Amino acid sequence: MERQVQRLRQAFGSGRSRPLQFRRQQLEALRRMVQEHEKDILAAIGADLCKTEFNAYSQEVITILTEIDFMLANLPEWITPKAAKKTMLTLLDEACVRPEPLGVVLIIGAWNYPFVLSLHPLVGAIAAGNAAIVKPSELSESTANILTKLLPQYLDQDLYAVINGGVEETTELLKHRFDHIFYTGSAAVGKIVMAAAAKHLTPVTLELGGKSPCYVDKDCDLDVVCRRITWGKLMNCGQTCIAPDYVLCDASLQNQIVQKIKETVKEFYGENIKESPDYERIINLRHFKRVQSLLEGQKIALGGETDEATRYIAPTILTDVDPKSKVMQEEIFGPILPIVPVKNADEAIDFINAREKPLALYIFSNNNKLIKQMIDETSSGGVTVNDVIMHFTLNALPFGGVGSSGMGAYHGKYSFDTFSHYRSCLLKSLRREGANKLRYPPNSQSKVNL
Ligand code: NAD
Repeated sequence: MERQVQRLRQAFGSGRSRPLQFRRQQLEALRRMVQEHEKDILAAIGADLCKTEFNAYSQEVITILTEIDFMLANLPEWITPKAAKKTMLTLLDEACVRPEPLGVVLIIGAWNYPFVLSLHPLVGAIAAGNAAIVKPSELSESTANILTKLLPQYLDQDLYAVINGGVEETTELLKHRFDHIFYTGSAAVGKIVMAAAAKHLTPVTLELGGKSPCYVDKDCDLDVVCRRITWGKLMNCGQTCIAPDYVLCDASLQNQIVQKIKETVKEFYGENIKESPDYERIINLRHFKRVQSLLEGQKIALGGETDEATRYIAPTILTDVDPKSKVMQEEIFGPILPIVPVKNADEAIDFINAREKPLALYIFSNNNKLIKQMIDETSSGGVTVNDVIMHFTLNALPFGGVGSSGMGAYHGKYSFDTFSHYRSCLLKSLRREGANKLRYPPNSQSKVNL
């Protein structure tokens, strides 16, 4: 590890990663890697999460290709120093803001979207001119293996490296000094990462999770609402950081929501969900048992079946859920949707504000006044109105959490900013010293009057 970090630091010090031409070439190489090995990449993601090729492509691969294209199109403008507005004192000088790379950055990925969560930040790190170490999650082993094999074949090996391992290796890695750490995963580990970073005064981006609420207003077309919620909740078997975690709605809507989600589940996955290639599985036994335990003592209105051997958990809805129950205390990260009845939007707002700030908030309503009120009076990493997940797909929007759902953001220009230092530059001339004398001591009244 020591040698790897040193090698990257030296290569970064040579200045090789900085020219626009080099950054472009590396991003293009990364794009070629994805295109030339698409089949293998899709198979690796599929092996880790029981995912179809189509789902692996649409949920992961396409995101990386789009991000690379977006970077390539915008980099020339972003790396150009921007002139700053001057004052009387600096009128004859040159003032600009110049983005520069931070240095050697560490990217720690999570298992739930194992390809995108390692490569999406890497695209930003390369675009901003950094060297980077990628540490994929050990739980998504096939994707970690393919990244370890492919990245060195396409990228500059002295500037970009993959290091594998679990808690022990990551703990060791975190002892080294980095210029930025970009972490995706749970809040508990986020605290460990931030504490390790503090020892070197290393800045961090923490992409964490939390319970993302979904408020459903009475005036909605419930067929559409339930189809969208079902899609976002069951994507990747609920193992999505911005999945709608629970629903807040008037008690009278509960039965209709259950009925419509039931119909949607049948429409999406057929009569026998277990046989559907589109329905994924829980990543491992530990997570399976954790998600399964959240069902204890709950009123199950739909689903509830589990199969430990295949880590299958049926799409499940819980109704009249007590806010104090376990399922409402931790991020579910599985295909269980609790419904918590609330009287109105005001109560929903109070409910949301009484808890940690979520990564996402979803509001379903036709009432613009209510939508505005909910956005104004709550806080979350992002919001999508009348849909779920989709704010993630727009790279003009910053993606990140707030409070316990994370700090910092990325995607598109926000990734470039995350991995850049904006250096303020004031370039003066050695002439015109007469005017400068005004600020030198002794600062007498007569001088000021000059
Ligand atoms: P994980 O188990 O894959 O862990 C994430 C990374 O942390 C891995 O690389 C792992 O090796 C490392 N790690 C684990 N324990 C560590 C330790 N003690 N010290 C140092 N490193 C350690 O993923 P997870 O934590 O199960 O991820 C699930 C969480 O991540 C959920 O809360 C989810 O919402 C969140 N998440 C957030 C985003 C986002 O973009 N905000 C995306 C995906 C997942």
